[in-house]
Amino acid sequence: MAFAPRALIDHAAFRHNLHCVRRAAPHSRVWAVIKANGYGHGLLRAAKGLEAADGFAVARPDEGMALREAGVDKPILLLEGVLRGEELALASAARLQPVVHQRRHLDLLQGAATATPLTVWVKVDTGMHRLGFPPKEVDEVVHRLESMPSVGGKVGLITHLANADDRSDPLTLHQCEMVRGLPAASGRPLSIGNSGGVLGWPEAQGDWVRPGIMLYGVSPFTGTSAEQEGLRPVMTLQAPLIAVRRLEAGDAVGYGGSYRCPEAMPVGVIGIGYGDGYPRHAAEGTPVRIGDREVPLIGRVSMDMITVDLRRAPKVSVGDWATLWGEGVPVEHVAARAGTIAYELLCNVAERVDFLEYATP
Ligand SMILES: *Cc1c(COP(=O)(O)O)cnc(C)c1O
Repeated sequence: MAFAPRALIDHAAFRHNLHCVRRAAPHSRVWAVIKANGYGHGLLRAAKGLEAADGFAVARPDEGMALREAGVDKPILLLEGVLRGEELALASAARLQPVVHQRRHLDLLQGAATATPLTVWVKVDTGMHRLGFPPKEVDEVVHRLESMPSVGGKVGLITHLANADDRSDPLTLHQCEMVRGLPAASGRPLSIGNSGGVLGWPEAQGDWVRPGIMLYGVSPFTGTSAEQEGLRPVMTLQAPLIAVRRLEAGDAVGYGGSYRCPEAMPVGVIGIGYGDGYPRHAAEGTPVRIGDREVPLIGRVSMDMITVDLRRAPKVSVGDWATLWGEGVPVEHVAARAGTIAYELLCNVAERVDFLEYATP
């Protein structure tokens, strides 16, 4: 048990971050986005930590079904909609609210015999060019849907921001104005902002906002830290120091020998690797914290181990816990050193990691 890496999940941080959403978007209801296993935190752990949200948004029907099976009663939004008739039937029985983003969905809904009318959200493609209808088709689509017995008039509009991670990008305002200017947008619920939209643009705060990453305590903006945005990390990833080696000047460390000891020095081996979700591409110098010291990663990341330079932390001993990210080590910094984004690191935390839940006072 104690030998495995552990992901500490702080429920107080979940609640705090949701409160930050409420403060930034006081007039919006909140879909807490918990797709991809709650951004790696666990679907049901995230649902529990964020139980004060107005609803949950997931990518796929099976994620919505898992929430219903666990007794979650709130509105659930299916961001990618459904693919086939069977899924539409399931979604309808479980009162999931699918996004309608292509004409195929109109055909499925036209033929569907649903017991209670579904609430659906029409996706407007305002510039992301991934899913959605072109703005000029939206009025017709909405009216067609509202005439269907399977929908019963319950239609909202939704769009997704492409560049909200950059506060100076003019596309975001343009996207907001495009969807707000549609005749169909008046009198119907509207959902625009992701985390970047919530914190950066009042125009993106429609009737419903859809924050994801900020709820986990990560800044949605390139160039600001979670702390600067007032957010607190939910996950702290830790692993034990499993060995301390005293190596000689010139010794090469790890696969490929990419790191050579410049002098006789202590090297720590920590029991976590890419098999646990630690990024294999983390560069030399990526920060790791042991006790009150920050030490740099050296050599290549292995499947179950990493190595660190312990010259700045002479007092540590085998069995001490090292922090890879979270409290004291911003996951954004680790992601930057690995050439990726915090979203990917969080999503990739493997099942073999022990998850422990707590709440800071
Ligand atoms: C993932 C997702 C979100 C949440 O985005 P964050 O950047 O994590 O806040 C919102 N809307 C849609 C459609 C998404 O796919």
